[in-house]
Amino acid sequence: MKTLMEIEIKNMISRAIDARGRAYAPYSNFPVGACLKGQTGAYYLGCNIENAAFTPGICAERTALSKAVSEGEKTFEALAVVTDRDALATPCGVCRQALVEFCKPDMPVICASKKGEYKVYSLGELLPHSFGPGDL
Ligand SMILES: [Zn+2]
Repeated sequence: MKTLMEIEIKNMISRAIDARGRAYAPYSNFPVGACLKGQTGAYYLGCNIENAAFTPGICAERTALSKAVSEGEKTFEALAVVTDRDALATPCGVCRQALVEFCKPDMPVICASKKGEYKVYSLGELLPHSFGPGDL
């Protein structure tokens, strides 16, 4: 896994916390924020955006990814994900699959709790034996 400096981890967690503050999660009451760092050094923030019909809702991680790709960034250095719970949460399966399309297996995924605790996984750890662009 690529190594990240502690100061960069804290920076990305702080940005993800800001994004979490803009979450629209009236149904789950589970606000999530994400910060995706592109190879250019740009940060793309995302929050979950729920919908009364549920299916149109989107997770924070895919919001950030959609913003990045739509702005031309397709290579990423790291992702931070924060919730407002005491326990750490990792990206859901759909987000893991979406990330595999653009991110290498060694990309760090920082998962942080409300208490400021965090754990860093590689994307490959979160989605081993994945199906990606190289399989077609
Ligand atoms: Zn998700």
